[in-house]
Amino acid sequence: MITTRLPLPGPGPTPDRPHSYGPGTPHTPLRPSWACRADGEPWPCAHARLALKAEYDRNLAALTIYLAGLMYEAMRDLYHLNPHDGPGPQQMYRRFLGWSPFRRPIFERPE
Ligand SMILES: [Zn+2]
Repeated sequence: MITTRLPLPGPGPTPDRPHSYGPGTPHTPLRPSWACRADGEPWPCAHARLALKAEYDRNLAALTIYLAGLMYEAMRDLYHLNPHDGPGPQQMYRRFLGWSPFRRPIFERPE
């Protein structure tokens, strides 16, 4: 039997990074709002970005895959929380993947 229904995607990666390296609260996302558990900023906050860059320093492709999976999870959560005024796809892309050095051009063009 041929069907046009696609299977539902499975769950994404567990948002357990960056790891905590001290006694403080780790800068991991609090679901379903995707705010930082430590400082309440939209995740990934500045601390999380810095720690993720350090943690994935030798494998930026893995960092991109991890963040893309979490972006999908966040889009699903945030859409269910607020289907009308939630962040759009471009905003989510910039928040989760656009900051990565893996995505930046080699040089910044003058404006
Ligand atoms: Zn944080």
